[in-house]
Amino acid sequence: MSDDIGDLSGEELRRALFAAAERAAEYLGGGVAEHPVLPPVEPGEVRAALAASPPEEGEGMEAVFADYDRVIEPNVTHWNHPGFLAYFSITGSAPGVAAETLAAALNVNAMLWRTGPAAVEVEELACDWVRQMIGLPEVFRGHVNDTASSSTLVALAAARHEMRGLPGADVRRRGMAGRGDELPPPVVYASDQAHSSVDKAAIVLGLGTDRVRRVASDDEFRMDPAALAAAVAEDRAAGLHPMAVVATLGTTSTTSVDPVGEIADVCEGEDLWLHVDAAYAGSAAVCTEYRDLFAGWERADSVVLNPHKWLFVPIDCSLLYVRDVDGLKAAFSLVPEYLTSEDEATNLMDLGFQLGRRFRGLKLWMVIRAFGVEGIRRRIRYHCELARDLADRLERHPAFELAAPVPFSTVCFRLKADDEANRRLLSAVNADGRFLLSHTVLRWRYVLRVAVGNLRTREEHLDELWELLTRQAAAVTDAAVTDAAADHPEERP
Ligand code: PLP
Repeated sequence: MSDDIGDLSGEELRRALFAAAERAAEYLGGGVAEHPVLPPVEPGEVRAALAASPPEEGEGMEAVFADYDRVIEPNVTHWNHPGFLAYFSITGSAPGVAAETLAAALNVNAMLWRTGPAAVEVEELACDWVRQMIGLPEVFRGHVNDTASSSTLVALAAARHEMRGLPGADVRRRGMAGRGDELPPPVVYASDQAHSSVDKAAIVLGLGTDRVRRVASDDEFRMDPAALAAAVAEDRAAGLHPMAVVATLGTTSTTSVDPVGEIADVCEGEDLWLHVDAAYAGSAAVCTEYRDLFAGWERADSVVLNPHKWLFVPIDCSLLYVRDVDGLKAAFSLVPEYLTSEDEATNLMDLGFQLGRRFRGLKLWMVIRAFGVEGIRRRIRYHCELARDLADRLERHPAFELAAPVPFSTVCFRLKADDEANRRLLSAVNADGRFLLSHTVLRWRYVLRVAVGNLRTREEHLDELWELLTRQAAAVTDAAVTDAAADHPEERP
């Protein structure tokens, strides 16, 4: 028994961990697919089903697990469901889940090498393994952040610190306010398809969202390098200070791939920081046949890739690679007396705005070891094949059209009908409960998205989805015809 001033006893801990492990194994071993992907719950219901105030005395783990079974598990959105095909679908893989348990038990705060030698060195090693796997040059040094939003913020903060072309800017010390002509407003460039995390970074860094210049993309949703060069020239002429470009390899809506080589040429010519957002698609570079799409990213100053998106590592895990780690330290290192150390080693707190850090490298290292590089390639290729098959079916079907090319494992498509019919199709498919798809808007048209990325998603699930999609498409288009006929009876076909 636990006493009343300490932790659970060893025996109670063992029972609690077994109870948690039983539940996780049951869930991931198949239980997840018994749930509808989206829980049938309205806002506020989860909270109302749980005690409104905390217990005065501990209740014991059995009561807690009972509430987990009754209220928590049934009311999450099941990202590990084989039918979860929304946003970018992800996997909390078994080796990753085991690693998270151990990392929680160790509870290391890896802010300094001294406060977590194994955590720091495993993180460095695992980042270097991924670097080797995706073919980035040795000069890139990686570390782990929680999300791509943080990684991009950190990269752009480093760019702001270096402020190429304005050597005395010293924003770190002097800030940006009231600098007049001495510090013209810095500008960041990204395509009209780039993720909103670029704007969020501009908000946090005090650049302002007006200083994120969205560059036009071409008809395959890739940044147009000529439009980029023109925007940079125009801004210089207007007295602004072009600072950085964010190229995206695998955009959020369509997974389009910016021509990073040509963008790197512009950056080199104009002395701009090049940040590459490969949060989703960077994992595909593990498969050498995709490397051509990435040609030029080796010229970047910084690259972000999220193993929690498509490398089967449980959320959260985002890798930021920088070419000049000393530059990154110059932007961020700030050591109060109580954190000084004599060790000749990496102190992760020097690489970003956070002090405390979880031992995230463990799950990355364990997943790579458990699956192997070739095993990871097989899984990524399989996802791309499933997506390609679905795209082929859509292309052949008279009611559908592809809305964008399919370079990886995400398919954007629409019914050849108005936006309202497409909205209804999405609602009908999601209401079935076996699948969750998401949507986007491309060139002002409503588009459905299927993103394959979970290890539990197999061919039979895509077959089931196809049956559902075609059945619902027929129902929706019939309904559309009936609605239109009701509005305009004389036009009834
Ligand atoms: N970059 C791209 C291309 C994304 O698709 C996303 C999210 O989907 C992000 C960045 C932001 O990712 P995170 O949730 O890790 O901040």
